[in-house]
Amino acid sequence: MRAKAGIIAIAAAVGIGAAALTALTQQQAQPLTAEEVADGLYIIVGSGGNVAVRVAGGGVIVVDDKFEQNYDEIMERIGEVTDLPVRYVINTHHHGDHSGGNARFLAADAQVIGHENVRANIIRGNQAGPPPVVFSESATVHVGDVRAEAHHLGRGHTNGDSVILFPDLGVVHMGDLFVGAAPFMDYGNGGSGAEWAQTIDNVLELEFETVIPGHGAVMTRADLMAFRDNIETMIERGRTLVSEGVSQDEFVEQLDVSDIGWDYSGGFAASSIPNLYDELSGGE
Ligand SMILES: [Zn+2]
Repeated sequence: MRAKAGIIAIAAAVGIGAAALTALTQQQAQPLTAEEVADGLYIIVGSGGNVAVRVAGGGVIVVDDKFEQNYDEIMERIGEVTDLPVRYVINTHHHGDHSGGNARFLAADAQVIGHENVRANIIRGNQAGPPPVVFSESATVHVGDVRAEAHHLGRGHTNGDSVILFPDLGVVHMGDLFVGAAPFMDYGNGGSGAEWAQTIDNVLELEFETVIPGHGAVMTRADLMAFRDNIETMIERGRTLVSEGVSQDEFVEQLDVSDIGWDYSGGFAASSIPNLYDELSGGE
């Protein structure tokens, strides 16, 4: 979320105007490239969140679809690895850098699936393309011999976070529940710093070794475990400050996670720290 892609999602979350958002979006436009992660599984990186593309007999399963304006380029990249149609798109969460292409995929006769809070957040935020098919705990999509499992295992980045597991490959797409930078808790959409580590513990009960984060390079189960521990460290430090009776301003000033490599000194990720104080002090 340190990347500008994160800024867009957060800008949407905190209600930055459409014109400013468009300017930010155009600034961070990058060409999209596809990389093979496992047999028949690719990720498309570049602008916006990581897109997973699973080619199965009879069709393609896509996880996340970046911004609306990335649709044509996503389809070009998919067309370079298969002629099969996209049958399903699964959203990891509602942010516009992960679900912005939904309306285009729906118009092209793909089915779009997301957690019920993904649909609710998209509708409340006046975004296009709420998923017509929703689930509360899990959903499984079958295409040919391939299946993809969507699991909602608790809150963290938002209240609609889902991880998408490809069981036959041992690969999971985490959405922004796992990013290679300081995590952003979208409190305006039900995010929770306090519950995040438990949510990852629930994810770790699934069987996988390879992890696709919401943004950035492919990682491993061990990387995810380290990220989980870092979140726990941050929350423990936050709870200590709250128990010492600090004010919200003092909390923001004194919560130090620079040794973890997380930078909350500015940018949009930092905007969730005052709300983290509210959550840990019982104000939220
Ligand atoms: Zn996000």
